[in-house]
Amino acid sequence: MQTMAFGFPKLGKNREFKKLIENFWKGNIEEKDFFKEIEKLKIKRAEIYSKNVDFFPSNEFSLYDFMLDTSIMLGIIPERFKPYKGLSTYFEMAKGKDALELTKWFNTNYHYLVPEIENDDFSLLKNFPLDDFIFHKNLGFTTLPKIIGPFTFLKLSKIVIKVNGKLKRCKIEEKEKFEKFLEKLIPLYQKILQELFDSGANSVLIEEPAFVMELNVWEWELIKEIYKNLTNLGELWILTYYDNVSNYHNFVELPVNGLGLDLISNKENLENLLKLGFPENKYLIAGIINGRQVWKANLKEKLNVIEKLSQVSKKLIISNSCPLYHLPISLEGEEHLPSSLLEKLSFAEEKLRELKILKDVFEGKDEALKVVKENEKLFKEEFGKNDEIRRKILNLSEKDFKRDLPYQERFKIQQKRLNLPLFPTTTIGSFPQTEDVRKMRTKFNKREISEKEYKSFIKKKIEEVIKFQEEIGLDVLVHGEFERTDMVEFFAQKLEGIATTKQGWVLSYGTRVYRPPIIYGDVYRTSPMTLEEITYAQSLTSKPVKGMLTGPVTILNWSYYREDIPKNEIAYQIAIALLEEIKDLEKAGIKIIQIDEPAFREGAPIKKRDWKNYFEWAVKAFKLCSKANPETQIHTHMCYSEFNEIIEYIYQMDFDVISIEASRSKGEILEAFENYKGWDRQIGIGVYDIHSPAIPTKEEIRKVIERALKVFPKELLWINPDCGLKTRKWEEVVPALKNMVEVAKELRKK
Ligand code: GLN
Ligand code: ZN
Repeated sequence: MQTMAFGFPKLGKNREFKKLIENFWKGNIEEKDFFKEIEKLKIKRAEIYSKNVDFFPSNEFSLYDFMLDTSIMLGIIPERFKPYKGLSTYFEMAKGKDALELTKWFNTNYHYLVPEIENDDFSLLKNFPLDDFIFHKNLGFTTLPKIIGPFTFLKLSKIVIKVNGKLKRCKIEEKEKFEKFLEKLIPLYQKILQELFDSGANSVLIEEPAFVMELNVWEWELIKEIYKNLTNLGELWILTYYDNVSNYHNFVELPVNGLGLDLISNKENLENLLKLGFPENKYLIAGIINGRQVWKANLKEKLNVIEKLSQVSKKLIISNSCPLYHLPISLEGEEHLPSSLLEKLSFAEEKLRELKILKDVFEGKDEALKVVKENEKLFKEEFGKNDEIRRKILNLSEKDFKRDLPYQERFKIQQKRLNLPLFPTTTIGSFPQTEDVRKMRTKFNKREISEKEYKSFIKKKIEEVIKFQEEIGLDVLVHGEFERTDMVEFFAQKLEGIATTKQGWVLSYGTRVYRPPIIYGDVYRTSPMTLEEITYAQSLTSKPVKGMLTGPVTILNWSYYREDIPKNEIAYQIAIALLEEIKDLEKAGIKIIQIDEPAFREGAPIKKRDWKNYFEWAVKAFKLCSKANPETQIHTHMCYSEFNEIIEYIYQMDFDVISIEASRSKGEILEAFENYKGWDRQIGIGVYDIHSPAIPTKEEIRKVIERALKVFPKELLWINPDCGLKTRKWEEVVPALKNMVEVAKELRKK
């Protein structure tokens, strides 16, 4: 038995990758030195890998995103970025004006850049994997060059087509188009592979996670065709992950030398292996170490699985279940965590060690056997249990998931109570997190200022932002979220049963990082979390201030969580804590409460067959936490969700008002509502894109609303930006919001 690992995070323990790239963007470092530093980071990774596993990949160190790299490698560069001038064009495509679309990578929190195919004029621009393979080889590291496979690449790309004179980007749905592109793509892949084998690569890893999607019969036929054309050049190993392959039989028949399966995400792959067997002549790359959760593996159980697998395959390689970049680098620096939790955790580096230990055990090394004995203890006792909350969950009944009055009746009561004008204006919650805010927080965290000083600073910020909103004439105000670093981490720090890390950074896209909290036990609230700031803000104004909460589904989806407790139960636990908060806010006189659920859609499983189950409990979790009094207006907010397919579930959430992003996906979201019969909820269509520094003109804002007015009756429309303003500057926010309010006023007159 051998070991392999892949997808080790490139960030670096102290976020070196992020700092380096951002420094380069600022012009603080020359290109030559920049590449030298990148090389150092690569070497570090290779050393970590090679210490622990038999096989590991090269070409894993993209400067922004691996899909972008693949696109450029294949010469797929939209006209507007041409000619390709190396790094400058590369970063233009990633984050410049009119950059490529950013989208979620399968059901993870990583975002990739969507390749944009304008024609089939592909060409091999640069064999990136080859360069990286040789770089490693020259340093004495034998690596497996890794590339995104042709099927996954096309499946996740978009083509640009003209509809009614307008350019539209859409996925490739037709067989003929797929074939047409493949015809051009295959020779390029052949060339890439040939060059790799000529340079001494033993095997090449081809990532085809799209094989786990629900595919059409013709798609599997194409896949067979693709690999028939790529075989015979040298040894190919295909990796799949995030779910079971959608057609096991077709998969194992592919004419390649190794096949990787995720044995963690569900049981199906393993069941198929045991039931249907595995071809004798192929390597079985068994993903048995969880690449998405932070828990130590139960080594004894793993050894059992290995035992079974070795009956199935004589060419067994064990590996991580999916790329390790969904995990923080290492536990080093997290010693503040309670030891009873720390001893159960395993981040990326520790996962590599688990693979090593399993191999050592297999080879009968005494040391490793000791580790297994120790490890056994971790799984004996129950952990983080709270009987009271468990009881509450058990006692939940239908009525806990249902508001006391239906929407139409609530609408009237709330209308009367709030007395808002037509086209009420509001924002999504956060206001600029300026340097002073961040500085004070750092000082507070380092104990350089007292809690009292910090709190009075936050109060001052709240005063300013309330005054500003009143001055420009917004109708529903917010407190600005200055006390929050991150919308999930903030609540994680206040709730019991959730831990936060110090250095557990994970890349979300480009150089953007976040620290997912760890839900390790039953979740409950011991004291109010948002009451102080919200009520203070409300005391300063006669206009309604929105209470601002992060929803249960988003908290769960953006955290690591236990897998021995059903996911819906964890969501309900969080929901109960949030409902307690809502009750406190209501008592304090707060009339509107927003529950943000930007991660509602993205938690959906890859396969549609699993959707019903997910959305049913997700909707229930939202309803459980939003069971406010009928007179309390419940808002929710979602951004960058594709609404078409899930609009029915969104409707079932039974909120009073929803605000959504709409400026980037230019009307596509509205189409979803157009097609949905019976929509009667209030809705705030984002009237401008907060991700851009550009200040929207009144004209542009009016256009969005006019388009929305074709779909919704005016009584239902709210006017707001499309997301929180935290990343913007005040110079941008002030004129933008002024324009927005003015447009609302003009429309009211009309
Ligand atoms: N209320 C949050 C904010 O304004 C919402 C952020 C989000 O949707 N991602 O920052
Ligand atoms: Zn948002």
